[in-house]
Amino acid sequence: MQTLKEKILTEGKVLSNDILKVDNFLNHQLDVDFINEIGREFARRFKEEEISKILTIEASGIAVAALTAQYFKVPVVFAKKAESKNLDEEVYKSEVFSFTKDKNYSIMVSKKYLNPEDRVLIIDDFLANGRAALGLKDIVEQAGARLVGIGIVIEKGFQSGGKILRKSGIRVESLAIINTMSPGHIVFQD
Ligand code: 5GP
Repeated sequence: MQTLKEKILTEGKVLSNDILKVDNFLNHQLDVDFINEIGREFARRFKEEEISKILTIEASGIAVAALTAQYFKVPVVFAKKAESKNLDEEVYKSEVFSFTKDKNYSIMVSKKYLNPEDRVLIIDDFLANGRAALGLKDIVEQAGARLVGIGIVIEKGFQSGGKILRKSGIRVESLAIINTMSPGHIVFQD
């Protein structure tokens, strides 16, 4: 997605050789019009898939998932990160290693919101080593639902997630794939 690549080049900041900060349109301040365009692009790519639910992970996946879901007219379910008293006792649970926080955490989805008839599209902001996506995939499988694909806004192609997921037969659509990056310099895959 050319407009996304241009926005990353003009507004993104490479913090170290493996962390990209896009706080002014995706991860802190939200550029809603632009995220809406991202949603439209995911809808175009997955339109044949008869998606019944979009699954993401709190917090940064929610905006992208919500603006994508309006095109499919389906609900968004977001996996919660911490033990919560409000959460139904009947939950699907998985473990994720956080790339940015360098620690493990649990994710949970109430059994009420995923069922075996669901055709699920996973949406997330970044793909690095694939741990978040694999945790969400695990939850889809626990529910007996069908994972139809994964939509990623920014994939860091030099990390292992994309390879692991595609090798396991999952359709992964990333709107921008970064081949290499360093402070002040980002190279995309064509
Ligand atoms: P993974 O689970 O694929 O290793 O990492 C993906 C998750 O970590 C995403 O949900 C995202 O929130 C976070 N993440 C990974 N790399 C980056 C990055 O370079 N920048 C930002 N802002 N978040 C990242």
